[in-house]
Amino acid sequence: MSRGTRALIDLAALRHNFALARAHAEGARVMAVIKAGGYGHGLRRTAQALPDADAFGVTSLEEALPLRAAGISQPILLLEGIFTDDELAAAAEHELSLVVHSEWQLAALERCELRAAFECWLKINSGMNRLGVPGEQAAVFERRLQACPAVRGTPRLMTHLAAADDRGGARTPAQLESFRRSCEGLTGERSLANSAGLLGWPAARADWVRPGIMLYGVSPFVDGGERPDLRPVMTLESQLIAINQCRAGDRIGYAGAYTCPEDMAVGVVSIGYGDGYPRHASTGTPVLLNGRRTQLLGRVSMDMICIDLRGQADARVHDPVVLWGQGLPAEEVAAAAGTIAYELFCRLTNRVRFEYHDG
Ligand SMILES: *Cc1c(COP(=O)(O)O)cnc(C)c1O
Repeated sequence: MSRGTRALIDLAALRHNFALARAHAEGARVMAVIKAGGYGHGLRRTAQALPDADAFGVTSLEEALPLRAAGISQPILLLEGIFTDDELAAAAEHELSLVVHSEWQLAALERCELRAAFECWLKINSGMNRLGVPGEQAAVFERRLQACPAVRGTPRLMTHLAAADDRGGARTPAQLESFRRSCEGLTGERSLANSAGLLGWPAARADWVRPGIMLYGVSPFVDGGERPDLRPVMTLESQLIAINQCRAGDRIGYAGAYTCPEDMAVGVVSIGYGDGYPRHASTGTPVLLNGRRTQLLGRVSMDMICIDLRGQADARVHDPVVLWGQGLPAEEVAAAAGTIAYELFCRLTNRVRFEYHDG
């Protein structure tokens, strides 16, 4: 069984979360966002487990082409569009949809000689000030896209919300209003909502929703309010490989960052930052041993962590340890490591073995 460091991926949970997104969408179409390798869960397996998705959202050709090669036939949207003009040929060949967020991308489409090759989504800046054309230019961009021979049909209109995870905040209503004004008189279908927009802001649902993180079972909200009925898809697991009886005053691991306050058993688990476990997780970060909560002690090493075995008298070498997932929300571990669950998932390395199961 080697080191025993593995990510168990529950495809039934993924489908449950997708169904929850569908229910909240109330008739809007659902684009499953599976960029960054399905948020670290496996690009192809994630897409194949969601036959009911109305479309998929990915970042680049490098993510879209393997999906087509695997026989995925739903629309696939490149969420940042093309990165260079020479990507248009492959995008057309594989029937990829394009975000158009900038003048240079529009100009590339206008120069291109492919006919009716692309379904386009015009990205409008409504206040995030990252990607998107200025709201007051939306109508001009839309007209040029309508007139562009390479573009098929009426361009869709989209924007991205910067703070939808803050359910009481004023920034989302301001963005909704800005987007509404930018789209006045335009006829394309509209899309605003990421997971937090979908679950927290009914007014953001429009014609298409674009959930990502919620599909993987993570609540998008930061306010600790009501948690949606999401099931964790990834359970990251390893095992106990040593048990040490330490004395009061013994210091654990690099820099002796943890000092035992009493005589106590300390366990060593075969996972570390070389696997993608966050090095910034500090003493107190929760872990599950045999299904019971305990805590990380001291610094995370490349290949190992140490955990507290007080109250775990029955612990044995080879016992299973869960780092996040079933029974331990990734959000909690992320908070203890000063990051977000999105990053935990994306940073797993190829030392972690992925095992897929269905329920
Ligand atoms: C990543 C992304 C999403 C999904 O966001 P979540 O917070 O993971 O739900 C939606 N839309 C766009 C444009 C994105 O880049």
